[in-house]
Amino acid sequence: MSNADQDGWTRVRGRLRAEVGDDVYSSWFARMDLEALEEGTVRLSVPTRFLKSWIQSHYAERVLACWQAEAATVTRIELIVRSAVLRQAVPPKLKPELAAGGHDGGSRFPNSNGNGRPMSVGDPGVHEALGGSPLDARLTFDSFVVGRSNTLAQAAAKQVAAARRVDPVMFNPLYIHAGVGLGKTHLLQAITWAGNAAGERKVLYLTAEKFMYGFVSALRTQTALAFKEALRGIGVLVIDDLQFLQGKSTQAEFCHTLNALIDAGRQVVIASDRPPSELESLDDRVRSRLAGGLVVEMGGLGEELRFEILKARVLAARSHHPSFDVPLPVLAYIAKTVTHNGRDLEGALNRLLAHNKLTGHAVTLEMAEREVRDLIRPQEPKRVKIEDIQRVVARQYNVSRSDLLSSRRTANVVRPRQVAMYLAKTLTLRSLPEIGRRFGGRDHTTVLHAVRKIEGLVGNDMALAEEIEILKRQLQE
Ligand code: ADP
Ligand code: MG
Repeated sequence: MSNADQDGWTRVRGRLRAEVGDDVYSSWFARMDLEALEEGTVRLSVPTRFLKSWIQSHYAERVLACWQAEAATVTRIELIVRSAVLRQAVPPKLKPELAAGGHDGGSRFPNSNGNGRPMSVGDPGVHEALGGSPLDARLTFDSFVVGRSNTLAQAAAKQVAAARRVDPVMFNPLYIHAGVGLGKTHLLQAITWAGNAAGERKVLYLTAEKFMYGFVSALRTQTALAFKEALRGIGVLVIDDLQFLQGKSTQAEFCHTLNALIDAGRQVVIASDRPPSELESLDDRVRSRLAGGLVVEMGGLGEELRFEILKARVLAARSHHPSFDVPLPVLAYIAKTVTHNGRDLEGALNRLLAHNKLTGHAVTLEMAEREVRDLIRPQEPKRVKIEDIQRVVARQYNVSRSDLLSSRRTANVVRPRQVAMYLAKTLTLRSLPEIGRRFGGRDHTTVLHAVRKIEGLVGNDMALAEEIEILKRQLQE
């Protein structure tokens, strides 16, 4: 194939991109390559069968028309699925253009086939970026204790880890959200360990920060292509703490990576401290893509689950410290009083262990009471209901509950309504869209606006701040 052919192809790609727009282009055509041009037939390749059939049924005529605009002699387009064989490198001068399509024509990298082979990424910087974030050997499925609040998340995680390359992807992405210390990272790393041990598919675990850092440094060393190409060698991409993903260009890269992986039938797993609908800084399209798989929430650890986690941890600690013995009543006491999250449970046990090791004193209830005192939080506040908030706020401001839910925009209703929405967001675990629905079917952006408004006001307006404190106290009593 001549350079002239490649140049022609570059122009065809430009036309195609201009016609269908950047989004459609990068979703479907970014990984299309020119294989051959012979006697009026253009042979193009794509990496997956799915892409092939989609392009064939939706864009075949478009592609042909774009070719004919460049070369009138072309009469036929043939689409093939390229195999995993390494192909010839493309001439260097073509690379910048191909870069624009997020694509590396043929290269040092194996085409993605999701197999478990290591990626042959030449550049050490890229290698560094792609090595994944460090894993903690203790965070496995074996050490993950299942209880009411995490049954579904654990089952979904196991299913993802056990899936084979040939299995259809059941839910994509798998999106797990929960508060701090409730086991997200544990579950994600468990998927990574188990998936890689099975050897079927390469599982890459990245924190959102690492993802950003990887891209930033890869872009800086101009190896974004290599980065992207190598990403394609991944069977399962696991991203932790998505709420930290920041910056427009990072998000655009994230969006493309997500689309490329999902469209190619790769599994994506994500953890975040909030549901997709509340990732406010993310683009709507990314959010809807995230919400389009399976979204699972893990609730707080109940007392029983905390007790089981503690028992498991003591057992694990004893493999290194055989003399470490914690009587069950002590564990029961910790499970009852250290209610906040899994990290505090770990902290509590570490203190007992340290005390035991350093002083040689046996662990007793008295010692435990002393050691963990500052980890004990005041009783969990009562669960507040949105109806209660509406009732109490309406009474306080002398309006009716239906005023709050109505679309009236007079000042005497607008402010109480904002206060009520603000309280709903701060005192309940309801999401913005749900709060919007409960306030007469409002949009989540309206709720967000109200929350920000009140947050802004209480900083300066002492009277309002006090009013809100009083309302909170009434509601939590
Ligand atoms: P997150 O990422 O949600 O903030 P982590 O996964 O880091 O939380 O969990 C915090 C600590 O609690 C870790 O030590 C973890 O092993 C432990 N933990 C949380 N949930 C469980 C569980 N279901 N079984 C065992 N350990 C758990
Ligand atoms: Mg975490």
